[in-house]
Amino acid sequence: MKIIVIGSGFGGLSAAIRLQSQGHDVTIIEKRDQLGGRAYVYEQDGFKFDGGPTIITAPWLIDEIFQAAGKQTKDYVKLVKLDPFYNIRWEDGTVFHYNDDRETLLNEIRKINPNEVEGYHRLSKDLGEIYRVGFELIDQPFTSIWDMVKVVPEMIKLRSDRSVYQFASKYFKDEKLREAFSFHPLLIGGNPFSSTSIYAMIHELEQKFGVWFAMGGTGALVRGFGECFTDIGGKIRLESEVAEITMNDANGKATGVKLKSGELLEADAIVANSDVGRTYLDLIPAKFRKKYTNKKVKSMTYSMSLFVIYFGTNRKYENMAHHEIILGNRYKGLLDEIFVDKTLADDFSLYLHRPTATDPNLAPDGCDCWYVLSPVPNLEGAIDWKTEAEPYKQKIYEYLEKHYMPDLRKHIVSETHIDPRHFETTLNSYLGNAFGVEPTLFQSAWLRPHNLSEDVPNLYFVGAGTHPGAGLPGVMSSGKIVGNMIGKAV
Ligand SMILES: Cc1cc2nc3c(=O)[nH]c(=O)nc-3n(C[C@H](O)[C@H](O)[C@H](O)COP(=O)(O)OP(=O)(O)OC[C@H]3O[C@@H](n4cnc5c(N)ncnc54)[C@H](O)[C@@H]3O)c2cc1C
Repeated sequence: MKIIVIGSGFGGLSAAIRLQSQGHDVTIIEKRDQLGGRAYVYEQDGFKFDGGPTIITAPWLIDEIFQAAGKQTKDYVKLVKLDPFYNIRWEDGTVFHYNDDRETLLNEIRKINPNEVEGYHRLSKDLGEIYRVGFELIDQPFTSIWDMVKVVPEMIKLRSDRSVYQFASKYFKDEKLREAFSFHPLLIGGNPFSSTSIYAMIHELEQKFGVWFAMGGTGALVRGFGECFTDIGGKIRLESEVAEITMNDANGKATGVKLKSGELLEADAIVANSDVGRTYLDLIPAKFRKKYTNKKVKSMTYSMSLFVIYFGTNRKYENMAHHEIILGNRYKGLLDEIFVDKTLADDFSLYLHRPTATDPNLAPDGCDCWYVLSPVPNLEGAIDWKTEAEPYKQKIYEYLEKHYMPDLRKHIVSETHIDPRHFETTLNSYLGNAFGVEPTLFQSAWLRPHNLSEDVPNLYFVGAGTHPGAGLPGVMSSGKIVGNMIGKAV
């Protein structure tokens, strides 16, 4: 079959490689001038800034994609395991060094509160079961209600109706430990207070298989996938935005795409890696949408957005590890402002990325390459980023200077930033969401937009907005689901 993949995020690349390997004739159509989507690379002043994902978990999913093409990961990219996976820091100076060594982990818990070690043993035991059930769902299509009915009893048994924070609170009384074992949904756009406790399995995933980094940055992995795809005959068109999915009036099937330039491309099937909301709203005429009407798309809830500053310093800050989770004094209060009130808080919790801790080649000699990410409300909130962006940036720098990186601003020699407007306009994401449809219980599995469109019979979805959801393991698994659904070329 002739297949067009709209978008080259990790979900699109995963599907494209698999489908090309299965004998189809696949073309990726990407709006931007590089592959990778949210994993875009900004290169400036000798620094190489990964724009998005940096924490790689479930590395076997990457191996599987290269293997599907008859290749090996090591032929394209070198992955290294990190230690610590990350530090979790609080303003009072407490640091939790987090890795997969059981004794280290128990000692770190003991340091915070010696009475909580037993709680961790219980949590760890229960997570084993959540992981077993949760990971079974990750690469299964949920296109029929029966797929859902089959797993409901286990989900009830595991109390999936509880939030990740409620789950962590069952085992720990100490607020710091509750935060350390519940912040994970933020990595995929979810609120720890409303994301289903199934997402607590991220801890188990990290414990079983580690946290990895691609030498050369995540961009090196994107490049590897891109090369692998063209090595097996796939075609890529960059700087080509799809303006419309063309339809056959008679049978309601997609016939191809129309680019913004007016060019028409034919296809037997379309795989949309573009934002689900915007794909339905903008690319498919309303008369072909019975389920995903404008009203339905607008009634779903969307993940938070992000404010990210990429910066290079002319000195190194060896006190900071590769990944730092920096938690402020407020947890629930802050998350309520981001997810519920959708206002810009005066304080923040940050994720700080220092890839030069692992790969010094990402910056000039003696320099460090960074990004700092702050979760912020999506554009449903009424924040005017035109006026708020600069003061917000300075506030983040001030905070880092005060607590962790003395004289930071004196040492910045390169800088760029993105805010929710980038997600809305550059990445065509509804309401500037950074992680697609919000991962709540009622927007998961069968209740999430399906991998096979419920409106157009030859339109498939991969990426953060469809099942199983955001994050590299999720979006790469969506590529596997769609590869399996379409099957081999006949
Ligand atoms: C700053 C940041 C940090 C993150 N950190 C991590 C992390 O450490 N670990 C982790 O696992 N996950 C992380 N995530 C989440 C993860 O990056 C995303 O969930 C994942 O990369 C999304 O992939 P995707 O397949 O949905 O495609 P996307 O990356 O969203 O790509 C979609 C592509 O479609 C293109 N497109 C859209 N519309 C059109 C159109 N009409 N025509 C042509 N092309 C179009 C876009 O240009 C884009 O390239 C992070 C996300 C962000 C933003």
